[in-house]
This record gives sequence, C-alpha cells and structure tokens, in this order.
Amino acid sequence: MEGQPNQPDLSLLKTPVQFLKGCGPERADLLVKLGLQTAQDVLFYFPRDYKVISPFCRIAELEPKLDASVEGVVEDLENNVTASGKTVFSILLRQDDDFLRCVWFNQPFMRDKVRLGQTVIVTGQAKFAGLRWQMTHPKLEVRDNRDEQAAKEIMPIYSLTGGLSQSQLRRIVQLAVEQYSAHVPEVFPLDFLKEKGIARIADTLRMVHNPTNESQMTAARHRLVYQELLVMQLALAMRRKQLDIRQDAPQLETTAKIAERIRGLLPFELTRDQDQAIAEITADLAKNVPMNRLLQGDVGTGKTAVAAFAMLVTVANGHQAVLMTPTEILARQHFDTLNQLLAASKVRLGYLSGGLTTSQRKKLLEQISAGEIDILVGTQAIVSGTLEFAKLGLFIVDEQHRFGVRQRSLLKEQSSPHCLVMTATPIPRTVSMTMFGDLELSNLKEKPPGRSEIHTYWASGEQRDRWWDFFRRKLQQGRQGFVVSPVVSDENGEDVRGAEQTLENLANGELEDFRLDIIHGRLSAEEKQLAMERFSNGETQVLVATSVIEVGIDVPNANVMTIENGDRFGLAALHQLRGRVGRGKHAGYVCVFAETENEQTTERLNAFVNSTDGFELAEVDFRLRGPGELFGTKQHGLPPLMVADLRRDQSIVLEARQDAIALINADPELANPQWQRLRRMVMNRYAESMNLADVG
Ligand code: ADP
Ligand code: MG
Repeated sequence: MEGQPNQPDLSLLKTPVQFLKGCGPERADLLVKLGLQTAQDVLFYFPRDYKVISPFCRIAELEPKLDASVEGVVEDLENNVTASGKTVFSILLRQDDDFLRCVWFNQPFMRDKVRLGQTVIVTGQAKFAGLRWQMTHPKLEVRDNRDEQAAKEIMPIYSLTGGLSQSQLRRIVQLAVEQYSAHVPEVFPLDFLKEKGIARIADTLRMVHNPTNESQMTAARHRLVYQELLVMQLALAMRRKQLDIRQDAPQLETTAKIAERIRGLLPFELTRDQDQAIAEITADLAKNVPMNRLLQGDVGTGKTAVAAFAMLVTVANGHQAVLMTPTEILARQHFDTLNQLLAASKVRLGYLSGGLTTSQRKKLLEQISAGEIDILVGTQAIVSGTLEFAKLGLFIVDEQHRFGVRQRSLLKEQSSPHCLVMTATPIPRTVSMTMFGDLELSNLKEKPPGRSEIHTYWASGEQRDRWWDFFRRKLQQGRQGFVVSPVVSDENGEDVRGAEQTLENLANGELEDFRLDIIHGRLSAEEKQLAMERFSNGETQVLVATSVIEVGIDVPNANVMTIENGDRFGLAALHQLRGRVGRGKHAGYVCVFAETENEQTTERLNAFVNSTDGFELAEVDFRLRGPGELFGTKQHGLPPLMVADLRRDQSIVLEARQDAIALINADPELANPQWQRLRRMVMNRYAESMNLADVG
C-alpha cells in the first residue's frame, strides 16, 4: 500500500492544531473547543454522518432553461406519427412521485434505445409545459447498475461549533489526513491485519474522512468498530485471567449434609432452574478461584432463595456473607425474609441500614469485624463505609444493573471473596458479552409452581371507567392494588400526571371509598419504610407509587395495577412493575394507559401486552432502543464506546470476543512485543475502570 513513509514520525502527530494547514490561530481556538488539540485529535475526529451527493437533479428542483441531468425510471413510452408524417417519440420518466416528459421529433431510432422500466439519465433544459416538466431532445443514457456508486460523491459531516463551517472543518481534516495519517502507528501486526482482512489504520483514516464509495465507508467503520470492541474484550479477558490466577478465595464446600440442612430451612421445593443455578454456584464456591457470576432471573423466579442457599453454604464453612441492594426498601425486605428463614437456626443476621444511629452503626461494624455477624444485609452504605469483615467469603449484589463495575471491585480488593451478582432484568446477549463479559452466567427462567397468570391490557381513555370498576371490585374482594406514575409531581406542559396529583384525584374520585397511600423517591427512608409496612400488612389498600416499587417488592395479596403514562416507561421497567402483581394465588391484572402516535412506543407497549417472558422482552427492547441507560457503559463506570453501536454491531462483538479470548489464552498479558501497542491501548483505556493490574 502506498503512502507509508519510511520513517513514521510519532512526534508529528502531536503538532498543535494551530500549525495545521488551513487552520491558523483563530480556527485553532474553535478546534480546541471541539476538544481537538493536536493533529492526532483531528485525525481521530470522525464524521458523525455522511451525505451522499448525487450529481443528478431532482425533478421537483428543476428550473427552467438550466441544463440539468435527471435520473428516473421509464414509466410510459409512446410513438406517434403526426398528420404531416413526422414521428413523435416520447417517454414519461418517474422519480418517486414526480414526472418528467421527454420528447423527440423525427428521431425514430430513439425508440430502440429504451424500454419500459429501465432507469435512464436524461440531460437537457426543462420547461414547465402544462401540468408537468418537459425536455425536448434531451441526451439520454441508460443507467448501468455497475457505475451507480461511482456516480455519487460522499461527503463527511462533522459535529461543529459556532464560527466553524462544515466546509472549513472538512478542509482542515482532509489536509491533516494527507499530511499526517501515514504517521499514525499501526496497533495490529501486519499478519493479523491480513488474516482478519481489515484495513490498515492509515488507510482507514483516509477512508473514514474521504471515502470514494460506500464500501470504503464500510471498511473504515468496520476496522474502527472492531478495534474498539477488541480492546474492550481484551480488557475483560485479561481481568478474568487475573482473577483466575488469584487463587486466594476460600474454598467453601457444599457437603451433602450442609445441602440437606439448608433445604430443610426453605419453606418450598426448589425449582429445577434454582437447583441448576445452585449447582453452578456451589461448584464455583468450592474452588479457590474467586467466583464471578451473574445470576439472571426474571421477576419472581426466586433469586433470593438461590442467594440464601449460597450464603448459608458460606456460613456453614465458617465464613461471612454480605447481600447488597440498591434500595433500602429491598434491603429491608431481604432482611425480613432471611430473618424468617433463619428463625430456628443459629445464623447471626445483621442489617446495616442508612437509618442507624452512630452508636448502633459502630456496634454493628464491630460485630462484623469481630466475626459475630454471619450474614449482613444492606445498601450501598456498605460499600461507601470502611467496612472490615473478619472472614468475608461471599459478596452478593442484587439488581446488579444499578451498580458499577467499580463498586463491585471496591469490595473485592479487601480480600478475594466469591462474588455473585443478580439481576431481574435479563440482559440482551450482546450487552452481557460486553458489559459483563468477565462474568459467568446462570439463568432462572421458570417460575415456581402455583404462580397465577398475569393479564396485561393496554387501554384507551374511553375504557377508563370500566377499568376502575374492575379495580374497585378487586379491592372489595379483599385484594390490594398499585397505581404507578412516571413522576412524583405533574409536569407542566407535558401532560404527565404525577403520583401526588393522582393520589389526590383518586382519593376524591374513583377510589374515594378505599384507604390510599403514596410512596416515591422524595420521601425519606423512614417514610418509605412505613408506607411499605402499612401496605404489606394490609392497612392501606392501594399504593400510589413511582417506579421506586420497580425492584423487589413482594406483597402477594396485591394483584391489580394501573400504570399511567405507560409510554414514559421503558420495556424493562414496565415488566419489572408488572412483576409486583400476580405473586400470590390470585391472578394479576395490569392495565397501562398511554396515548401515543409513536410507532416505537406502540411496538413497545404491544410487546409488553403480548409477552411475559423477560428474556424475550429484553431482546425486543434492545432492538427498539439499543442498550439505553440501563446497560450503557456509563452505568458501569466504563469509558463510553465511541464508534461501536452494540445493536448494529452485534456480529462484530462476537468476533472481537472470540479473538480476544484466543489472544489472551495464548498470551495472558499480551507480553509478546508484537502486541505492545495494542496492550498499551487496552491499559490506557481500561486499567483504571476495570482494576486491571499492569503486570507488563
Ligand atoms: P426474584 O427472583 O424476583 O427476586 P424472589 O426471590 O423474590 O424472586 O421470589 C419470589 C417469590 O417466590 C417469593 O415469595 C418466594 O418466597 C417465592 N419462591 C421462590 N422460590 C420458590 C419455589 N421454589 N417454590 C415456591 N415459591 C418460591
Ligand atoms: Mg429479587
């Protein structure tokens, strides 16, 4: 390939932007505003889009008496002979909904040049004749599919800042590409490039900024996406290898006796999926390599029992376990569940709540470090404090999608406990391979027996009265219900009803005969706790809520739910909310109200109504919205992906993952000099956020 200088000069890449051709000090300031300081920054400032410019004119944009070329399909053709014996040949060209008539007098041979349905290009001057544009005696060429791409010009479109025009920036970038791209060092060895069939970086930069056809655009993008994903996958694979070789985790054995005793404590038979997950987890616990496992289980599949089992194995082996939750409500609920479960056992349970007084907290921390607490339940408060365990063996995080990788590793550094993360929102495969690529997976799909069906409706405004009739009837039968709003207070101008106003309206209207209460994120931990207690023990019949009730709440007597402004919730959130009903022996009923014209929202709500399979819904949501906030890199404390799009690039994720695993298996630290640059790139990008030890 041409353009590789004999001596690539790295220092040239550091040339400040003000010295770039076509730039100068004033524009340099503008470039700096865009975050571009050096020639290298400019080279790696990729277009946000491309515009494909056709040299042909749109019929709708024709102007009289100007030469123009028009491309269109031959919709009709006619050959006439006038009274005086002249031939008149005409064709009607179609371009979407616009038409252009072309006429040739006394050129009978024209009729052999075109056929119906052909794409042709006519060039000439048009005039508006009667109802439509017409050209007389235009030049006509039949379009050949092969030159379609060559005829188009592809223009990169960059994000701009005030004072800098698209064409100015384009020129600066083009000149920088010409002058500097050959100096960009290649991170991949040549053999590797060849084997993978990917473009060199210097060519990639030229193609990404100045593609001459669409296949160049694709090739350049492919290289950049692959590189970005490979670097991430290498970091994940290295992290995993590094954990694997830390053989300092306690070996927690599950003897038949231990298993039997734990099963005796559980008030039910485990499902097959629970048994399977427990088998996978206990096998991990028995090794001295720290477990790093993600337990995915749809709402209500019984993750808590699996967690309890693992914690009890840990305690039986003389170690401590900790269970962390994202919310206080959930922590409290787990604490209560475990308390009941362990009432007849000697296991010592602790609850580290944000509401403890200083002295209570101090005492609890002392008990933890003295080993007088076996199982600790609490929120993030656990992580943020200086918590010392006497003998921590297992660390469980519930609802992992709300925690970052970094928090997970924070606790890990104290010692090497086994780690289990649980999520009720199944993660699309492509995402779990990227964000959670260093975790093993266990899945719970089947629900425990005796679960009732949940019926879901998407109702229109006219059906409101009938729904509330139904809702009231359920309450009269002794059931309880939820009413969910997307926000705490009305949003002015947005037509979104807040929970507070909903409560007020219902209390003075549809539900005036019932006992109502409210719960949302603006209440204090204590207020929330009280509201939950009143609802759990049946004091209140209806809980008006925001999505704070999304995770974990388990009140089996509640079986009806109204969701207002359902278009405001993502599919995962809707599914989680639905999981709050139908938990007991009574069938659940959920009704969503949402006015929407939006196609995507319609598809989302239809999917919600038609499927109760969280794994299926996760894939639909991913297809509709991409990874979203829940599974974005930011949520996980990782640097953002700049070019890759997990939805569009699923197959490249797979490829990069396989390649990364193969590379790391062959060379765990990428110590071979040929990987030196790649290795630096991985470290620069991920060492901090993934806690990678830089051993090289
Ligand atoms: P999630 O996976 O959503 O966290 P939970 O652990 O809260 O689910 O379990 C939901 C409900 O199912 C709880 O009331 C729990 O007691 C019950 N449960 C869990 N496993 C079983 C089982 N194997 N048989 C019967 N009920 C079960
Ligand atoms: Mg749960």
